[in-house]
Amino acid sequence: MQLKKAREIDETTHTGRPKIRQVTQGHRFDVELVRVTKSYNAKSKAVDDISLRIPRSSYCCLLGPSGCGKSTTLRMLAGHEEVTDGAILIQDTEITTLPPVDRGTSMMFQDYALFPHLSALDNVAFSLKVRKVSKAERDRQAREYLELVQMDHLANRLPNELSGGQQQRVALARSLITRPKVLLLDEPLSALDPFLRTRMRAELKRIQKELGITFVHVTHSQEEAMALSDIMVVMNDAKIMQAGPAREVFETPANAFVARFIGGHNVLMSEGREVSVRADACRIGAMPGMRGASGTVTMVEYKGPFVQVSMTSDTGDDLTATMTDAEYFAAAPQIGDTVAVSWDPKAEHVLS
Ligand code: ADP
Ligand code: MG
Repeated sequence: MQLKKAREIDETTHTGRPKIRQVTQGHRFDVELVRVTKSYNAKSKAVDDISLRIPRSSYCCLLGPSGCGKSTTLRMLAGHEEVTDGAILIQDTEITTLPPVDRGTSMMFQDYALFPHLSALDNVAFSLKVRKVSKAERDRQAREYLELVQMDHLANRLPNELSGGQQQRVALARSLITRPKVLLLDEPLSALDPFLRTRMRAELKRIQKELGITFVHVTHSQEEAMALSDIMVVMNDAKIMQAGPAREVFETPANAFVARFIGGHNVLMSEGREVSVRADACRIGAMPGMRGASGTVTMVEYKGPFVQVSMTSDTGDDLTATMTDAEYFAAAPQIGDTVAVSWDPKAEHVLS
């Protein structure tokens, strides 16, 4: 089937800033991985038989611990790494063996890799120059993308005259000017300080929504993935543990790994079954009609809106409960205290 594709530039928004939006039609998924495997050597698999569908215009985060196969997955999408087995589709077109430039993907690299002798504008315009677009037109488009990332006022600076965060914005504009169907980002925020990281995170989300293209963003931070994801893919040990909306993953983790990795959950045995219970559903103190455990307090942390109490349970499991600050200041548990923890059985979620 020939896909109908339309790209349009909508010149006006209420902010007066040019708005660039790519509209694509006729497909449901921007990315499909069909039983994809990657073996770098005969002994082990970096990615083991994963399947995934990313709906149109999604912010997708690949989340998991170091070495679980996130970057390998991204590099196979980009075409920087060969697939050992399986197939990859972008907007219904199989691209498994296509060279990177023919896939409709664009990768934003962690080290930004800007040309040091070119201005921000010329860095962004570079790929259009390669495609023999006229100077006037490529400068116009480059300015538009610099505006999108709020860097138009520094268009003439060289990379070494820009901060790390600013260089990253230029790199982002440079990846987007090729009008990719899918933008790939490998730990794009890890080099930034915590303040800039949260700000840039919001910017990425805004830009993704504004452009309407799918972003696939690799991170090992569950907080980052929760904040950004329309679809969150939790990986471990070369496999996908769970994929779905962030809220669904948080509320119904598929297994103990997911519950522990995304945090905020206790994993425990209840009536012979392994269950997760959100830490914010666990209270300090015994309560009639509630399920309970007891533990020895190992840590008490003031978090502002609440106080987090960490314990080791009688069965040797880690256990976390939250207290309101009023509850805490009325009766503060001390490290080494043995305390009861209660939760509503209805808050239990059975793990597989
Ligand atoms: P992540 O990005 O989740 O930290 P990677 O995808 O980089 O993980 O790596 C997954 C696994 O593949 C790891 O065990 C890693 O050591 C291995 N690996 C990654 N790249 C190569 C390579 N070029 N050659 C051999 N093994 C590799
Ligand atoms: Mg990686």
